Amino acid sequence: RTVLHWFRSKDLRIHDNRALNAASTLAKESKAPLLCAYLNCPAEFRNHGTSPARTDFILENLRLIRSELENLDIPLVFLEANNRADLVPTIVRFVRDNSISHVFANYEYEIDELRRDVKVLKEANNAQGSRPAGFHVSLHHDQTVMEPGSMLTGSGTAMKIFTPYHKAWLARVKADPSLLDSVHPPAKNLPGAKKSLQSFFNSPVPTPPKEKEFSGEKEKSRIRALWPAGHAAAMQRLNEFLSDKLVDYAVTRSNPAKDSTSRLSAYLSAGVISVREVLIEVRKHNGGSADFSSMGADAGLSGWVRELVFRELYRQTTLTTPHTVMNLPQNLKFDFVQWEDDEEGYDRWEKGTLGVPFIDAGMRQIKAEAYMHNRLRMNVSSYLYCNLLVDYRRGERYFAETLIDWDLSNNTQGWEPSYTVFNPISQAEKNDPDGEYIRKWVPELRSVKGKAVFDPFHRLDKDEFEKLGYPKPYVDWHETKQRALERFKSDMKDA
Ligand code: FAD
Repeated sequence: RTVLHWFRSKDLRIHDNRALNAASTLAKESKAPLLCAYLNCPAEFRNHGTSPARTDFILENLRLIRSELENLDIPLVFLEANNRADLVPTIVRFVRDNSISHVFANYEYEIDELRRDVKVLKEANNAQGSRPAGFHVSLHHDQTVMEPGSMLTGSGTAMKIFTPYHKAWLARVKADPSLLDSVHPPAKNLPGAKKSLQSFFNSPVPTPPKEKEFSGEKEKSRIRALWPAGHAAAMQRLNEFLSDKLVDYAVTRSNPAKDSTSRLSAYLSAGVISVREVLIEVRKHNGGSADFSSMGADAGLSGWVRELVFRELYRQTTLTTPHTVMNLPQNLKFDFVQWEDDEEGYDRWEKGTLGVPFIDAGMRQIKAEAYMHNRLRMNVSSYLYCNLLVDYRRGERYFAETLIDWDLSNNTQGWEPSYTVFNPISQAEKNDPDGEYIRKWVPELRSVKGKAVFDPFHRLDKDEFEKLGYPKPYVDWHETKQRALERFKSDMKDA
């Protein structure tokens, strides 16, 4: 009998991988060979709107994992399902055809993925004791320090509000630092396993579906250089961030020109590095203490861990409020808002030609880097659904189609509509005080001196403005803010 670890696109590493470690332990104890598989489904990339950058990042990480595993005499085999309906039959057929007794995998908390796993569990149990033979399925929590669903309020319901969640999270980790312990990579396969699993080695890494390919080789190498695949690259990025940037994080994190955040999101969302591995390194920078509160750590360190805690909460939200990943807002009242089909507005938003420098800069960054600074994500999302009144779900989808770090939980929560209307001029003045970020991404404004760069149409005289070749604002911010607030209020009144 053989043991299988089934990789998903959120646990792409062999280090500190909970399910893989459990599979390896069982294989060793029961002297069974260990096999790994990845179930590729081009239709899933399409359903989720996964960007070319992310599709490539996933496949490149799998390529690296395959060779790491090969050094341990463990094959990684690529299975192919044409569409969602084929996922379960494909894995179950593979399990049965190859006398696999145990299947290990890490939980994915999104509703479709949970339903898929329930079907696999049913197949495994239905057959128990009869023909075809049953198999065991073991699912593990791996994506977070705190199991989603385990952080409860006093009345026993899942916590949804950040501040109490954060406080409780910090207290639990401080009281039990073993929550951060990581597990070993798999042990080398048993002697003889290589021979018995011979046919599974050298399984070709899938290629991206046609429409998920980069626009050309140059584009591919540019993005790969920005986001090198692999666990070693992630560890290097983490350690550079911790030694060079963490201390100033509290002060510089909102300044997009400083680029002072970790840029680890792509690695965390694909599981190329685990959050426990990250926190173990953070702990070393905290003199060995697992007290990451503002009382126990300096401002940069506690501020950064706070962001990781948002990530933890959002996975709990996905599990306990599944409508948030079914195209509905967490606050269901927002589903009653009548959005506008402003095609030109949407198009200008996407292209970065709205005539609002901070917003345009953000939208040009995402196109160029498959990434956008958090401060800009907050501003461009607010501008789309408040000032343009375009359905926020269009922007949410565009982010999925463009970002390398797309993460259903973080993106959905990031796009959760609210009454807060960001002012992109004061936001730019505060967070990009020298206009450096704007000048970097909007070359038309490079020659503009001083504070005029934040609002050139109103701050330069007419001739000067016209020479720039930059559009005037597509809408008036004050008027559209008013319109949005009235619309939200009236549409949500009876909801
Ligand atoms: P750092 O500041 O170095 O933070 C470290 C890590 O903490 C990040 O890598 C990320 O895993 C986590 N984190 C940071 N900020 C947040 C946050 N606000 N919410 C949840 N986790 C956070 N993040 C994604 O990973 N994928 C997305 O698809 C995504 N979409 C977003 C959409 C909108 C509209 C908004 C407002 C935010 C979104 N975020 C998303 C959250 C955040 O913008 C990114 O995680 C962050 O910019 C990544 O850069 P970094 O790794 O340098 O972050």
